[in-house]
Amino acid sequence: MAGTAQETPLLIFGSGEPGPVLMVLGGVHGDEPGGWLAAERLLERLRPARGALLIVPRANRLATLGGVRTTAALGDLNRQYPGNPDGLPMARMAAEITETARQFHVSHLIDMHESWAFYNNRPQNGTAFLGQTIGTDAAESSAALAEAVVEAVNSRILAPWERFFYRNRANNGAGGPPPGTPSQTPVSPGGSGSSSLNLPRHMPGLSVLLVEMGQQQSLERRIALHVEVTEEASRRIGLI
Ligand SMILES: [Zn+2]
Repeated sequence: MAGTAQETPLLIFGSGEPGPVLMVLGGVHGDEPGGWLAAERLLERLRPARGALLIVPRANRLATLGGVRTTAALGDLNRQYPGNPDGLPMARMAAEITETARQFHVSHLIDMHESWAFYNNRPQNGTAFLGQTIGTDAAESSAALAEAVVEAVNSRILAPWERFFYRNRANNGAGGPPPGTPSQTPVSPGGSGSSSLNLPRHMPGLSVLLVEMGQQQSLERRIALHVEVTEEASRRIGLI
């Protein structure tokens, strides 16, 4: 969205070799700093050995500057895919992200979020506490990737509350967040009409991982775990 108030950097790292093309989104929600600070850390340390890496550290830059999820005037970027060039600013941003993903033949998308409570502490009625979860689109290959990443990262985790869960159709819970619950992103695979998890409907073959980190951990730990999840996925898809 160059030249507008919503203008935000897209960083592109090529390897010169064929391979996967990973796009990383941070700052889709401005009150989830673990996601956008992790994206900025990945800018410094992640470089593709094959394929290419695209990073948008602060997709909703104004929201990150204000420390708010978003504003009514901007719209919620994670409810807008595949976007609308004539819509709210974040609908236009979604359209530009979708167009960029098509232009660069993006094969994998990692969308980094935070949630205020741990999934493992969710009420038994299925109310959505999403911290420490990875949700995917409906493709089997995406599920396999997420499950492999969860297993590998969990094998290096010592604190039980840091353990990750893959949220598939069977365990994603029927209920929405309770009223007043901040910073929730439903990640029902194939559902929730317009989140990034639904981008493969418009880009067949794209694999999407939506990572939610629990805000009950320190900010530094959330950043470190986001970086670890993205780097583990990068190894598994052959980017590094
Ligand atoms: Zn979010």
